[in-house]
Amino acid sequence: MIQDQLSRPLHDLRISVIDRCNFRCPYCMPGEQFHHAYQFLDKDQWLSFDEITRCARIFVALGVKKLRLTGGEPLLRPDMDVLVRQLAAIEGVEDLALTTNGSMLTQWAPRLKQAGLKRLTVSLDSLDPAVFKQLSGDRGKVEDVLAGIKAAGAAGFKRIKINAVVQRGVNDHAIMDLVRYFRGTGHVLRFIEYMDVGNQNHWKYKNVVPSRDIIRTIEAVYPLEYMGGTEGGDTNERYRFKDGQGEIGFISSVSHAFCGTCNRLRLSAEGKMYTCLFATHGTDLKEHLRSGTTDDFLAHLIRVTWMKREDRYSELRSQLRQSPQHLPKVEMYHIGG
Ligand code: SF4
Repeated sequence: MIQDQLSRPLHDLRISVIDRCNFRCPYCMPGEQFHHAYQFLDKDQWLSFDEITRCARIFVALGVKKLRLTGGEPLLRPDMDVLVRQLAAIEGVEDLALTTNGSMLTQWAPRLKQAGLKRLTVSLDSLDPAVFKQLSGDRGKVEDVLAGIKAAGAAGFKRIKINAVVQRGVNDHAIMDLVRYFRGTGHVLRFIEYMDVGNQNHWKYKNVVPSRDIIRTIEAVYPLEYMGGTEGGDTNERYRFKDGQGEIGFISSVSHAFCGTCNRLRLSAEGKMYTCLFATHGTDLKEHLRSGTTDDFLAHLIRVTWMKREDRYSELRSQLRQSPQHLPKVEMYHIGG
């Protein structure tokens, strides 16, 4: 197990398999910037499934236990069940998960389950068809996502995580609709504080709804019991409904930063390592992967990258945002949330 400058172990690897998405969520990939003529990576710039699997094997040998597949929208990459099968076969992988916008789950869920995928996380910010359409950049239908979640449940996925990013004045009025819809289903709804990811979403602190306010809104109707926080490296503060109707979670990167236990490294679709969601630069693995270098050298590069890591953007957010050296951050769609 390797540790960084803040004694955080490398435990989770988030693998972005594609830089494209069929949605245009304004806080991640605003349609104005990422229009139909926008130049995304060419397919041969993506790491191949064999290159991803080789990297994952080396990361697991260095202590990684959990792999999460992300994008853009990972189910846009063809034959994802092939990659899932390859990663599931790596000895030492304890957890294999995928984050999706859910619009293609109905088609993919059974194949992903059969291939060995263990867990699913679906992004769903509103049940209101009009708000959902607006929040997907006029690209998605909420019915498709709800049907996808149903199909994933039927395919055997339990405790599906449902991630809802809450923005003041956009979807904060519909928090209780989501709560009522997912309570008692066995799936776990998590509210995420709106974050200044990337450089395109014109983030303002005043548009953040702190988790404590969301908890207060829910508790006025359904009393909650605290179950645990982010001490184990998880991003989620866990609660359960006192009436036994399941769990609910809160990811509070703005009001209650969890950098102290952050054990995640991100690998972008074109093979760069990023040590933070708000990183300003990445370390390239692809040129080495494609120049016949050894696994030992790749392991050395990963070890050095992690051991010198000292990222804690969310803890320093207000300071960093004011600093004149404020450099552009990597875009979230490039490395997965
Ligand atoms: S801001 Fe960076 S260091 Fe902090 S929790 Fe997020 S990814 Fe980890």
